[in-house]
Amino acid sequence: MSELPAERRRELLVELLREARGCCRCPLHEGRTKVVFGMGNADASLMFVGEAPGFHEDQQGLPFVGRAGQLLEELLRGIGLERREVFIANVLKCRPPGNRDPLPAEIEACKPFLLRQIELVDPRVIATLGNFATKLLTRSQRGIGAVHGTPQVHEIAGRRRWVMPLYHPAAALRTPRLVDELRLDFRALAELLRAPLPAPVRSDAFAVADGSSGAGSSAESEPQATAAADGALQLGLFG
Ligand code: SF4
Repeated sequence: MSELPAERRRELLVELLREARGCCRCPLHEGRTKVVFGMGNADASLMFVGEAPGFHEDQQGLPFVGRAGQLLEELLRGIGLERREVFIANVLKCRPPGNRDPLPAEIEACKPFLLRQIELVDPRVIATLGNFATKLLTRSQRGIGAVHGTPQVHEIAGRRRWVMPLYHPAAALRTPRLVDELRLDFRALAELLRAPLPAPVRSDAFAVADGSSGAGSSAESEPQATAAADGALQLGLFG
């Protein structure tokens, strides 16, 4: 767990949200309706990282509110979790025009927001949804078709964490056979939430290990924060 008290981490998240709302670091700020920072449990042990806001997300300022979000919620319920128990963010906080793929320069410009979110929420498990989040956080060019469903361990934002690559729910809506793959991979994700992190295999910071560890403590369902602050609704702090 982060050494910062929970209340301080929430305050810093709200500060980061405000910073993102004023961000002009890449040209995507010109076309956005709203910055989509992320939402959910600020103490979640499981964080999902998707790609970028789409039309509905851009309109509402919230991640995964369309059909892909409904599928994500259904998959979560299938493993006994509710959306409010996890944190959901994207690689990009502003919508690319026409929902095109994120550009490398946009990913690089926006990356500090994501890494700071990970540092502050401090999840033990990060589920990357689709190629862009997976390649960014695993620092690998291996595509999602090759790596989905197989947990990895990476040092991210100052701490070793499980990374579980998953197909993006939007891809599964376009290609129905991927829904079955997602259901299977969510079962593996549920197992991972109970698995301890394996011991480092070497002393440097970028160790990668297979996810074959045994059971440990169960996933936590942390209470929602109660402090009021501008913009905190997007963080899910008021449940
Ligand atoms: S996508 Fe990220 S870096 Fe680009 S303007 Fe939006 S918040 Fe800033």
